Amino acid sequence: MKKITPKIQAVPTNIITGFLGAGKTSAILHLLKSKPHNERWAVLVNEFGEIGVDGSLFQGQHTEEGKIFIREVPGGCMCCTAGLPMQIALNQLLTRAKPDRLLIEPTGLGHPVEVLESLTNEHYFDVLSIEKIITLVDARNLVDSRYTDHATFNQQIAIADIIVGNKQDLYQKWKLSLLSRVN
Ligand SMILES: [Zn+2]
Repeated sequence: MKKITPKIQAVPTNIITGFLGAGKTSAILHLLKSKPHNERWAVLVNEFGEIGVDGSLFQGQHTEEGKIFIREVPGGCMCCTAGLPMQIALNQLLTRAKPDRLLIEPTGLGHPVEVLESLTNEHYFDVLSIEKIITLVDARNLVDSRYTDHATFNQQIAIADIIVGNKQDLYQKWKLSLLSRVN
């Protein structure tokens, strides 16, 4: 009898975005720790420049047994230079992992709005069910116009369903060092 591969449909998908250095990779590693054991999760990482760092962080996380499937797409923004490689990588990842959940980490320097459009276009309309978009912000940067005037930074905040003030553990030290400069 011919085996019919079930069609992959409506995979719950979260986009985890944020500027370079906002702690996206650590946040995903943290989420993976809370994955229900019976669920299969897939992670698509699209990084630009920081691939070396992130690559090594994710190494060893991919485990068939642990039902965690990680695929990295190097080489620029998902919607631009990495367009086709990213589609191929995503399709292969979905076929292999048949995930109960998909996490997507786009590069912190990409185009969040266009990335979202490319994940909701006709190719993925039935395949992915885009759920909460989580934007990580290092709140210390909210006083820095290099961030607050940056189009990508603002788009990331605009598309967010949830904004997380990340790296909070570092703020106290930062505040203390500001105070010590004043005093
Ligand atoms: Zn782009």
